[in-house]
Amino acid sequence: MQPLIDQHGRIATDLRVSLTDRCNLRCTYCMPPEGLDWMPTDEQLTDAEVVRLIGVAVRELGVTEVRFTGGEPLVRRGLVDIVRQVRALDADVEMSITTNALGLARTASALAEAGLNRANVSLDTVRSDTFHQITRRDRFADVVEGLAAAEAAGLGPVKVNAVLLRGVNDDQAPELLAWCLERGYQLRFIEQMPLDAQHGWDRSSMVTADEILSSLSSVFRLSPAAEPRGSAPAELFRVDDGPATVGVIASVTRPFCGDCDRVRLTADGQVRNCLFARTESDLRTALRTGASDADLAARWRTAMWGKLPGHGIDDPTFLQPDRPMSAIGG
Ligand code: SAM
Ligand code: SF4
Repeated sequence: MQPLIDQHGRIATDLRVSLTDRCNLRCTYCMPPEGLDWMPTDEQLTDAEVVRLIGVAVRELGVTEVRFTGGEPLVRRGLVDIVRQVRALDADVEMSITTNALGLARTASALAEAGLNRANVSLDTVRSDTFHQITRRDRFADVVEGLAAAEAAGLGPVKVNAVLLRGVNDDQAPELLAWCLERGYQLRFIEQMPLDAQHGWDRSSMVTADEILSSLSSVFRLSPAAEPRGSAPAELFRVDDGPATVGVIASVTRPFCGDCDRVRLTADGQVRNCLFARTESDLRTALRTGASDADLAARWRTAMWGKLPGHGIDDPTFLQPDRPMSAIGG
């Protein structure tokens, strides 16, 4: 086995697989109200192709964690079967999902039974009206049900990911944390990144990690968590002396590129060595023209070798990638 190493010495072991670019919400910081021009079905990898590439990653490239994302991975019809097949090819790989949780109440137990380990749910507010304002859909109750179902199915510890938007929910961090603590969910705030389809991100209006921590500190006592962060993107803080923690993923103001261990596969079979990469490597064409597993693995290693040392958001020449977050897989 030769791992996915880059020229700066990082080794990728955490694979994010986007299963679709479609979604049933329209979060304002992610996509426009009308949605996007979705990927044509024939361009999307089939279930068998997804499983084959994950197999190459796990067996030939040393990937130990697979996270399904999108778009909304729960809208992918074959999801449970994909999870089952990946579990059949490797008993130990850690498998999780990042989801908006719409429909998770119906599928959580099937996913757990098929071999999924954990669920991360995105939820930016615990007020139904703010939820509607951010996601443009009135589905807060479904997310609450989905979270409870994930916990009940054993997909825990359930993590909740939240993005704060100025003037919308930036005053709601403490109440979101209180709500998660009450239910035993691990909350992590993510700084908004320049990955929206509308290209509307503006650094000056982004809610920063410092602001998030200061808002939480008005209600909770926060202290740095004892355990080392390693390659985890979230900086963890103990809440009121623990054991509960809250995380902040400060991709913009406190970048962690030097410790990154992630690699991404899009729903149309392109390897992205960084969320912010401006180039991709096509595995789908190779896959569909008879490449062997060893060929695919070699192409994947080459794609990874060129990973840049950092995302460069602060560089004056920074350009947002052409693909929005929903088509990359967050
Ligand atoms: N639909 C699923 C969900 O929302 O969990 C999975 C895909 S979504 C793109 C993955 C994560 O990216 C979500 O937690 C979402 O809040 C986050 N996200 C989307 N756009 C973002 C942006 N511009 N900056 C920071 N996080 C973003
Ligand atoms: Fe959909 Fe997730 Fe984007 Fe919201 S953040 S629109 S749930 S893909």
